[in-house]
Amino acid sequence: MPKPEVNIGMVGHVDHGKTTLVRALSGIWTDQHSEEMKRGISIRLGYADATFRKCPNCPAPDCYTVDEICKHCGSPTNILRTVSFVDSPGHETLMATMLCGAAIMDGAVLVIAANEPCPQPQTKEHLMALNITGIDKIVIVQNKIDLISKEEVLEHYRQIKAFVKGTVAENAPVVPISAQQNINIDMVIQAIEEVIPTPSRDAKKPPLLKIARSFDVNRPGAPVEKLIGGVVGGTLSQGVLRKGDKLEIVPGRLVEAEGKKQWVPIETKVTNLKAGGEDVAEVTPGGLIGVGTNLDPAITKSDNLVGQVAGAPGKLPPVWHSFVMDMKLLDRVVGSTEEAAVEPIHTSEPLMLNIGTATTVGVVTSARESGKVQVQLKRPVCAEVGDRVAVSRRIGARWRLIGVGTIVS
Ligand code: GDP
Ligand code: MG
Repeated sequence: MPKPEVNIGMVGHVDHGKTTLVRALSGIWTDQHSEEMKRGISIRLGYADATFRKCPNCPAPDCYTVDEICKHCGSPTNILRTVSFVDSPGHETLMATMLCGAAIMDGAVLVIAANEPCPQPQTKEHLMALNITGIDKIVIVQNKIDLISKEEVLEHYRQIKAFVKGTVAENAPVVPISAQQNINIDMVIQAIEEVIPTPSRDAKKPPLLKIARSFDVNRPGAPVEKLIGGVVGGTLSQGVLRKGDKLEIVPGRLVEAEGKKQWVPIETKVTNLKAGGEDVAEVTPGGLIGVGTNLDPAITKSDNLVGQVAGAPGKLPPVWHSFVMDMKLLDRVVGSTEEAAVEPIHTSEPLMLNIGTATTVGVVTSARESGKVQVQLKRPVCAEVGDRVAVSRRIGARWRLIGVGTIVS
C-alpha cells in the first residue's frame, strides 16, 4: 500500500454510520480498539487507511473503487492515492476528542443519516467545529437511504441544503449512500478525490508531529528485558522524520524539583516508524503515523502524551503557560436541543481550550471589549502565534463550543 498522504475526518452524529462507512471504504472496523491490535507496535491509532483506485476503462463514478480488479469490467485498476481516515466519536461528551481529531484533518466527510430529521445536535456541533477549525474541504454523505423512500431522500436533501447554507459546507457535494449495503461508495470516493486534495506541505522544515494518540504496546506483565518503548501516534505537519532521529516532546513532563513543580521537555529517539501499516525508514507529512521511541512506556500509556508536540530538539514552537487571544464568539450555543445566546466572556471564568491536539483549561485573567481575552492555562501548550483555539464554556453538565480564538501573544 502506498503511504497515506491525506487525513480525512469522519464526523457526524452518533449512529449515523461513520464507522460503517470507514469499513466500507477500507475494510477495517475502526471501533475495534482491542488491546490485541495495539500490541506488537502494529498500532493502528484507531484510524484506517484506504487506497483509492480507478478503472482505466469504466466511466465515472463506476471507475472509482478500492478493489484491485474492477468489478464492472474485470480490468486491473490503477492506484490514485492512499488516505487515512480519522473516525471521530459522535457522542456529545466526546467533543474534545473530535476537536483533537480535527487538528489533524485535511478535510472531512460529514455523515448524516437520512432516516432522522436534519440537523441532529452533534451534526450541528461537528459542522460548527469544522467551521471553527477552518476545515473547508467537506463531502457530505447522506447515509441509510436504504431505509426510506425516494421522496423522503429528496425532502431530507432539502433539509441538509438549508442546514449548511452560510457555513463552510455550503457548496459541499451531497452523496446519497447506504454504507451498510455498499450503495454509491464509488460516488463517495469520486467526491473525496474531487473535493479533498492532498495539501502541499513543507518537507524542508524541521519535523513537527502533533500527538493524537500514545500507547504502551506491551502485554501486561511482560518481562522487563522484552519491553518495547513507548509509542506515539499522530501526523507530521511538516518536515521528514527518520528512524534514529533525536526527538524532543513538549511541554513534556511535570516534575518536582526542589519543592517546585515544573514542565520539562522529554528527550528520546525514534526507534521505529510505522506508516500505512508498514515499517518504514522515514516519513513525510500526510497520513497517520506511529513513532516508536525508547521512552519508558509508562510515559506514553493511555494517551498520556496526547496534545503534546514532538519534533527536532530545539526547533519546536514555543510553550505557553498563558496567552492573549483574539476572540470571536458564536451567536448561539450549538450541540444541544435548546440553543441559548452566547454570553460575553467574563474575568475568572474557566474555559476549555482546544489547540491542535491539546485540550486544556484556561482561566480568564482579563476580558476586554476589544475581543482580546487573556487566559492562564492549567496545562501549558505548545503552539505558534496565529494558531486557532476552539473555545468551550461549561453550560449545565458539559462543555459547549462558544467561539474561536487566535493566539496573539
Ligand atoms: P457511528 O456511530 O456514526 O460510527 O455509526 P455506526 O457506523 O456504528 O452505525 C450505527 C448503526 O447504523 C449500526 O447498527 C449500523 O449497522 C447502522 N448503519 C450504518 N449505515 C447504515 C446504512 O446505510 N443503512 C442501514 N440500514 N443501517 C446502517
Ligand atoms: Mg463510530
